Amino acid sequence: MIRFEKVYKRYNDTDVVSNFTLEIKKGEFFVLIGPSGSGKTTTLKMINQLIDLTQGYIRIEGKPISDFNLQELRWNIGYVLQQIALFPNMTVEENILIVPEMKKWSKEKMNERVVELLESVNLDPEKYRNRRISELSGGEQQRIGVVRALAADPDIILMDEPFSALDPITRSSLQQDVLKLQRKFEKTVVFVTHDMQEAVDLGDRICLMNKGRIEQVGTAEDILEHPANDFVQQFLQTGLPHYQKESVVQDMIDAGYYQNEPQASSAHLTSQSPIKELTISLSEYEAVSISNQPDTKTYTITRADLIHFLAQEAVASKAGDQR
Ligand code: ADP
Ligand code: MG
Repeated sequence: MIRFEKVYKRYNDTDVVSNFTLEIKKGEFFVLIGPSGSGKTTTLKMINQLIDLTQGYIRIEGKPISDFNLQELRWNIGYVLQQIALFPNMTVEENILIVPEMKKWSKEKMNERVVELLESVNLDPEKYRNRRISELSGGEQQRIGVVRALAADPDIILMDEPFSALDPITRSSLQQDVLKLQRKFEKTVVFVTHDMQEAVDLGDRICLMNKGRIEQVGTAEDILEHPANDFVQQFLQTGLPHYQKESVVQDMIDAGYYQNEPQASSAHLTSQSPIKELTISLSEYEAVSISNQPDTKTYTITRADLIHFLAQEAVASKAGDQR
């Protein structure tokens, strides 16, 4: 329902967003991720026309954003920022009701909405609605920032690194709240982060950007299982310290570390067995036979094959460290 068609944003001859084409589905939790300066904020702000695009189209439900009345567009797109943009001297309720007031909702409807929203983020309405923003903790303020974006029931919510200034515990609880709210109210969320763990935890799909361009779009699983290129691979390795695709016997076979001649062996593994298991088997036996999948061939892997494979990997990773 939000469609980018060959979108460019140019500042003085420099493309900060370049040939950007993709479609964000209705009800999707869509994450834009990339290093600092990769064009995430610019892309997000072009959706609600806080930034004008230089070339191309952005359509919402088929209609180019330039055809929308600007006020209507902004009212119907919620926006949450990292640095809390609440009014510190106004109460929680007044902050939440800014857009509903402009839309001239009835007192009764506004009252119900405040109660519903505060309860949805576990803040007791009676305790919180009349407090001033300046009397709240950072985490509470950010909760108000989130529900305020939802207040007038927009279809789309844009969030620009909304949780990056919060401590890890507050952050993770707000992430859960936002996911719950998004599912409950069936909103389309476009969420910017530079944190791969956050992207994996929240995104239905993730778009990885670099220098204004799309490197890869897909589910977390797609991207983790099949990184499109070296940039993506590198980004995953730095961004997810615990991410490491486990090597399996098939990787050795693909790299040519095996014997064709069968050897007498009482150890058997499959091509999908982890290398760790192979190592354990080879500590006991000279050779292991690998029964195989489609081609029904049986390979043999010897201790020497394993050592040569590991040596080759060690050399490759050392070269990677020096880069
Ligand atoms: P991100 O949110 O991914 O960190 P931004 O979208 O904020 O990146 O910025 C992308 C690039 O555009 C950066 O190199 C930034 O310096 C540049 N940029 C942003 N705003 C302007 C501007 N008003 N004039 C010139 N360059 C800008
Ligand atoms: Mg940014």
